[in-house]
Amino acid sequence: MRTDTPKTILLKDYQPPKYKVADVHLDIRIFAGKTLVTATTRFTKNHDGAEPLVLNGERLKLVSVAINGAATTNYTVDDKTLTIPHPGNEFTTVIETEICPEENTALEGLYMSGGNYCTQCEAEGFRTITYFPDRPDVMTIFTTRVEGDKKTCPVLLSNGNLIEDGDCGDGRHYAIWHDPFPKPCYLFALVAGDLVHIRDSFTTMSGRIVDLRIYVRAGDENQCDWAMESLKRSMEWDEKTYGREYQLDRFNIVAVSDFNMGAMENTSLNIFNTALVLARPETATDMDFERVEGVIAHEYFHNWTGNRVTCRDWFQLSLKEGLTVFRDQEFTADMNSRGVKRIDDVVRLRNMQFPEDAGPMAHPIRPDNYIEINNFYTLTVYEKGAEVIRMQHTLLGDDKYRKATDLYFDRYDGMAVTCDDFLQCMQDSSGVDLSQFKLWYSQAGTPEVTAEGHYDAAAKTYHLTLSQTVPPTPGQPDKKPMHIPVMVGLVGPNGHDLDVTPPPSVIPAKAGIHTNQTMDSGLRRNDEKGVSYLLELKDSKQTFTFKNVAVKPVPSILRGFSAPVKLHTNLSDDDYRFLMVHDSDGFNRWESGQILALRMMGRMIDTVESGGAAVTDPAFIDSYGLMLDQANASNADRALMARALSLPDLAIIAQQRKIVDPDTIFTVRRRVLHDLAARYRDQIQAIYDSCNTPTTYSNDAESAGRRALKNVCLRLLMNGPNPPVSLARQQYESANNMTDRVAALSVLAETDGADRDAVFADFFKRFEQYPLVIDKWFSLQASAPIPSTLDRIATLKDHPAFSLLNPNRVRSLFAAFAMNNPVCFHAKDGRGYDILTNAIIALNTKNPQIAARLLGPLREWRRYTPDRQAKMKAALERILAQENLSPDVFEIVSKTLK
Ligand code: ZN
Repeated sequence: MRTDTPKTILLKDYQPPKYKVADVHLDIRIFAGKTLVTATTRFTKNHDGAEPLVLNGERLKLVSVAINGAATTNYTVDDKTLTIPHPGNEFTTVIETEICPEENTALEGLYMSGGNYCTQCEAEGFRTITYFPDRPDVMTIFTTRVEGDKKTCPVLLSNGNLIEDGDCGDGRHYAIWHDPFPKPCYLFALVAGDLVHIRDSFTTMSGRIVDLRIYVRAGDENQCDWAMESLKRSMEWDEKTYGREYQLDRFNIVAVSDFNMGAMENTSLNIFNTALVLARPETATDMDFERVEGVIAHEYFHNWTGNRVTCRDWFQLSLKEGLTVFRDQEFTADMNSRGVKRIDDVVRLRNMQFPEDAGPMAHPIRPDNYIEINNFYTLTVYEKGAEVIRMQHTLLGDDKYRKATDLYFDRYDGMAVTCDDFLQCMQDSSGVDLSQFKLWYSQAGTPEVTAEGHYDAAAKTYHLTLSQTVPPTPGQPDKKPMHIPVMVGLVGPNGHDLDVTPPPSVIPAKAGIHTNQTMDSGLRRNDEKGVSYLLELKDSKQTFTFKNVAVKPVPSILRGFSAPVKLHTNLSDDDYRFLMVHDSDGFNRWESGQILALRMMGRMIDTVESGGAAVTDPAFIDSYGLMLDQANASNADRALMARALSLPDLAIIAQQRKIVDPDTIFTVRRRVLHDLAARYRDQIQAIYDSCNTPTTYSNDAESAGRRALKNVCLRLLMNGPNPPVSLARQQYESANNMTDRVAALSVLAETDGADRDAVFADFFKRFEQYPLVIDKWFSLQASAPIPSTLDRIATLKDHPAFSLLNPNRVRSLFAAFAMNNPVCFHAKDGRGYDILTNAIIALNTKNPQIAARLLGPLREWRRYTPDRQAKMKAALERILAQENLSPDVFEIVSKTLK
């Protein structure tokens, strides 16, 4: 147990820096076993008094300090800071430190991956490289000289443009990089090692030619083309959509296999997890391809939203992350199917962010306190943050939104700003009042909206009453009503949207304005015209009256998921069956099917919990048949139908329950899949066959859609009576791409028998040389909801290919198990909890960030059945009792137990 409680940092304590930095010159000399860093920094005073200069620095060996050219001992050091009594108004420090990247397993600061040196400085890693004011509002100009051995480090990279390189004798060489644009030190990066690269170029809108390179380990260079194409598309999209041009001569991406997160936007030297760069059809799935494209775009977009304009302090993290996620979501929507992208993003939000917002770590998208900032790179800051930007886009509309972002870049280029500054631009430029909207930044919790409609046939009016509540969250017992954009359509009995007189001040959002273009064009069938109305819910209860409503409509509410809320309605199952077929909004067509499934499974779980036997509702089976018919049509949007035919995930069903029993949820969902497969076996097989046209592989969206739908069918069949194991086996053997091969493998993973063992052995042998594919091998086994999984994990964690030091591998085994496999993880005897707890304890000292992330599945312990609750709580207490608990793990465990 920790004896000292780590310090909580508060937003309200923010103070501007006492000293600013004019520029910094780093000289980084890499030797085997030690790296010497000399930082020459020009400071200027930024306050009236005579405060000392306090620099951050951790895990550093201090060699020497000089001020204005003279060595000094007039300073104090502790394990976190170096303090020099007021050195003057303008002065230069030269600080020499020694570090050991070879021993750095936390993967923060300068560390090694695959024999190469690389850095990760966000959020506070730079302080483990040298003493410096490590805070984002200290922006400065970096010049970096990197020196290393010519043989082991032929490649020497840092931010900006290469201004000089050469030999320094003794088999060593150097390179000097200069970034003329001021940046905070969290965007500093350095790479030194033996890497190969592919090269291309991009001509910017003003005609400048940018040299683009992707660096990888030798042998991987043939897996980089997709990333390079994605980069060029991103650069073009940002010019076209936001008018943003790239400013430097070089843009480098380096892929490393040991990385705590997905990727990092260091100015002109993005460092990526290999999982988000390497992609070839033989080794990467369609989903992997889309993620690579999306993350390449995300990091590139940070060049403007994050780097040129950065965050004043880490409480403002969503300023760059929410905005950049919104930008990458829109990019992906433009490159692929807009409707499918929206569904996938909402599923992710509901699956992962909603529980976070309802649990002990719930925080607003702009948190107001933290112990360890690394714990706040959350789904709330990123994904809910993106929803909050999306709502602003919806409220302003395309044109005003674009004018507002222009103003934002104009006003704040080269500065470190706040979320309020961003909102102010939105407001100043559009005239839209966002004062109440601001609450989205400070109130945590998912708002719940209730909609009740009433048709007055005599008056031909339709009254829609919307009410809202925001649930209490830790530290926030009482909430104010929020400003919620609710996109609504009224669907007439013929299935067409009614064109009615909306309530005063509500403007219909017709094609090209709000809904159709920005939310739905990918889903709209050509013969349809949607009419939606943007209602702005601001009070706790409001009634909106539509006039000239000729017939009784069925309301389609929250089209395009126009706000990140939970919606309750008084619509009947019949209403949803109608919307599932007729809604002009593709998102709500999909949503209606999901609601029907959720309602039915909820009733079935109730039945089981009260001792009865669950039966799949015949009406649901019938409506599923309607969807299968749609999926079988020759012009079907197959990617969309793959989503429509999928039942809600276990995690989403669990959220509907007061007390979660994962076994019951799993059994009921299985029962439904079984009954659907039994009833529609032939249709499903027919769709499978029609999607299984054995042509040569292509990665276009249409082909990917075929694969997605085909593999949903395979999964359905495998859940039915007489599962076609040989079909799965055959698909595995004959696949010419990873999507099909992994889909077959994942259904076989859930069987027990010779076929299963054979394909897993084959898969390992085939792909032994591809670490990212071996990650899939681990994670498919860990995710299989069969009893033998628990034993298998014990063997897998001792497998020669397993390592606790590689985050991807840790995630592929432990995170896959604890997050994708609720049945085994929540095994009654508590073995699942033990497995995870032991991994967290082992990682606590090696890599605290990854250890803290693994705590996620234990966070909601209070929601499970009493026996499980007790065991999960005991697991958390066992972790809390460890000595040397990292602040990362301490913060989450202590807040979770509170
Ligand atoms: Zn980001």
